[in-house]
Amino acid sequence: MNALVDKLATERMLTREEFKQLLVWDEPDLHTRACEIKHKVYGNQIYLRGLIEFTNFCKQNCLYCGIRCDNTQVERYRLTKEEILACCQTGYGLDFRTFVLQGGEDPYFTDDLLAEIIREIKDTYPDCAITLSVGERRYESYKRLFHAGADRYLLRHETANARLYHSLHPPSMSLERRKQCLYDLKEIGYQVGCGFLVGAPGQTLDHIVDDFLFVKELNPEMVGIGPFIPHGATPFALEKAGSLDLVLNALAILRLMLPNLLMPATTALGSIDKRGRELGVLAGANVVMPNLSPLDVRRKYLLYDDKICVDDAPKHCRGCISRRMQSVGHEIVVTRGDYIA
Ligand code: SAH
Repeated sequence: MNALVDKLATERMLTREEFKQLLVWDEPDLHTRACEIKHKVYGNQIYLRGLIEFTNFCKQNCLYCGIRCDNTQVERYRLTKEEILACCQTGYGLDFRTFVLQGGEDPYFTDDLLAEIIREIKDTYPDCAITLSVGERRYESYKRLFHAGADRYLLRHETANARLYHSLHPPSMSLERRKQCLYDLKEIGYQVGCGFLVGAPGQTLDHIVDDFLFVKELNPEMVGIGPFIPHGATPFALEKAGSLDLVLNALAILRLMLPNLLMPATTALGSIDKRGRELGVLAGANVVMPNLSPLDVRRKYLLYDDKICVDDAPKHCRGCISRRMQSVGHEIVVTRGDYIA
């Protein structure tokens, strides 16, 4: 099996069967190798992103997601521009130099309003990067937000298999449209992040190989992956969560395929295992995204059950994540943390 890791490290590609074999390999060598390759590009540095969950209103109805529009049990909220800026202020004082504005697809946040918020954050913190994660929008909208100052955009493709995509989303959504958004974002000039769920209901190893092939084709700056975790008020309430080992192997394979990627050790990974984020870093992740959202809205932004850190203030999370990274020989740095080409 080590020959396969060698092959992946040199050729950056494998056959479908080889990918599937590596995905279920249970020796630490794969992770060690991925971590070494990460060190060559990024050293032992871990980049910080401050996550601001600024709206849980969503017009979409993704079957796995706790804030889907059909979930009438969620109390909906929106942060004001002032509240978002207050999150940035707290974050800046805690060494954050990237703010991630994430939310449901909320038509209340028009291009005008989002552009105004982006401009104001950039005026106040010119040394910081802004990442948007607000779902599918029109080309012109992405363009306006980019020109207002947004640097990066996260839009997970969720799965690159069209049939699986359809089984996880309402009929109004399509993989084709999702991919088009990613290509639009790229063309406009954003640093782009795609990503996928691991262990989504109905997902096979072949589907994950489809994800690897799509990531290779898109060649993004960032890839976010994490386990699917059921949410009690969704159609997938009774499904099983994705496995830690599979997520870790997928992270390691992606690192070997695209050594320069920015990849977070996600909150979802930390939610299925106490040391999930540390293990993610040891398998090749180099980004962490602690939550900067106000404490009173945290429990309203539950995409899945048993999410960690919902009661922890940003200052607490900042200390906690530093210690966790140190425990596995990594160090959080004060920087925008841009992609190294
Ligand atoms: N509305 C934005 C942001 C979505 S939330 C968008 O469409 O991009 C960010 C990510 O959370 C999603 O892309 C999805 O991959 C993940 N997510 C949603 N529900 C989840 C669940 N039940 N388990 C694990 N991850 C989930």
